Amino acid sequence: MNTTRRKFLLHGTALSAALLLPATRVIAQPRFTQNPFTLGVASGYPQPDSVVLWTRLAPDPLNGGGMPEAGVPVRWEIAADEGFRKLAGSGEFIAGPQLAHAVHVQARGLAPGRPYWYRFRAGEAQSPVGRTRTAPAADDAQTRLRLAVASCQHYEHGFFAAYRDMAEQELDLVLHVGDYIYESSWGKGRVRDHSGSEPYTLADYRNRYAQYRTDAHLQAAHATCPWLVLWDDHEVDNDYARDRSQDLDPVEAFLARRTAAYQAYFEHMPLPPQTWAGGNSMRIYGTHAHGALARLQLLDMRQYRDYHVCPRPSRGAGGNQVNVLECPERVQPQRSMLGAAQEQWLDGALAASPARWNVIAQTTLMAQSDRGNAENRIVYTDGWDGYPVARERLLQSIAARKLANPVVLGGDVHFAAACDLRVNFDDAKSPVVASEFVSTSISSYGPSRARNEALLAKNPHIHFANGMRRGYTRHEVGAKRWEATFRGVQDPADAQSRVYSLAQYVVEDGRPGVVKS
Ligand code: FE
Ligand code: CA
Repeated sequence: MNTTRRKFLLHGTALSAALLLPATRVIAQPRFTQNPFTLGVASGYPQPDSVVLWTRLAPDPLNGGGMPEAGVPVRWEIAADEGFRKLAGSGEFIAGPQLAHAVHVQARGLAPGRPYWYRFRAGEAQSPVGRTRTAPAADDAQTRLRLAVASCQHYEHGFFAAYRDMAEQELDLVLHVGDYIYESSWGKGRVRDHSGSEPYTLADYRNRYAQYRTDAHLQAAHATCPWLVLWDDHEVDNDYARDRSQDLDPVEAFLARRTAAYQAYFEHMPLPPQTWAGGNSMRIYGTHAHGALARLQLLDMRQYRDYHVCPRPSRGAGGNQVNVLECPERVQPQRSMLGAAQEQWLDGALAASPARWNVIAQTTLMAQSDRGNAENRIVYTDGWDGYPVARERLLQSIAARKLANPVVLGGDVHFAAACDLRVNFDDAKSPVVASEFVSTSISSYGPSRARNEALLAKNPHIHFANGMRRGYTRHEVGAKRWEATFRGVQDPADAQSRVYSLAQYVVEDGRPGVVKS
């Protein structure tokens, strides 16, 4: 059966750029000889009345997906009960080759703050059932928030026991703050291998995302509650900055690579359908509200940032460690991590927030982290320490507007941390203006105990740092108290490893700063 573009629009819950492409042949009654739901199901970006539902048809996930060059109708259903007797919505989405037969549907007309179950069908094939949850009503001040924050999941470095544990928690939301895939291989003692070499093309990135997504524990975590996602560098290329790659590739070539990587990211994440608009940029920053309790400002720290300062010639443009005295460019006031437009947007979003807890959801460690010894000060240029004046602007603005209960969440550094954030980290009298919790890596190798101890010794505002364990952070938020529990994986080489609580820190309402509990 041939379907016109008009039919696409009739069925289109997703008005994406794919629909603007020439009409594709549609196979009305597809027959699958292999399960097309090998990548599981996911949901994301819950609103009080809607949630995004995701899947991708890929009977041969590691080799381009294995789907024909044609559209395939996918029926979706969302219900108020696990047995799908109380259907709350359903429809048909034409999954097409332009977006790797991914499905992004915004299910609307839902009730706030409650669980829903969803599933997909293509031909005779039925997907697993996913559970999701709508956001509480905007004025709901009684609600609580149970949130897990994940980052850095190198597939080769360890199994995803952390996700197995996460899927067993009763969570409202998972926030992934980047390094969802790794483009390259490094380190010794890998527990499993990437399929294929470093990705450069759209086909390469699709295969890489698909491989990560075949992991059963990752699928379980996606199927248990809605996610919000931020990318960091490895979704494209280690330590890239805007249009500049680690190896200083020609800008045109790197932008083509970045565009492919961004598209594959969209195709594999439960992002709102309108996120994909074609072109070589993609807006992922925005605000997420959880009732009147919390607002999360979701930041993109790669796409708009200024280039790294003081790069080593041997390592192209990538992040680097520098002695601060030898790199005065670091403190140029115009340098920006977010770019001018996003900085301005963030300032407005914070000014307008009536929430009790104001979360800055970003991708790395915000606290100043001096990695030097007694004689020198050494910092990484890829993190906020490479953009210290921009960090000061942000913390200063939080302080000046007396933002209610600011909490910064991040990852990237492969260790768990709890920190106090000051406008001036070198002045013990500079007031603490925000609290910070950093999640350790899900599986990527972390620093040694000695390195964490040295970090703690030189940075008194960092109260806790543990890179010995892979894992994630579970946050339980009520009106009076924010409780962060660092979960650690005992043995990353064992998918069934025990996962346990390493430490717990709290923030009390109205009192910025982390306290051990
Ligand atoms: Fe990482
Ligand atoms: Ca990173």
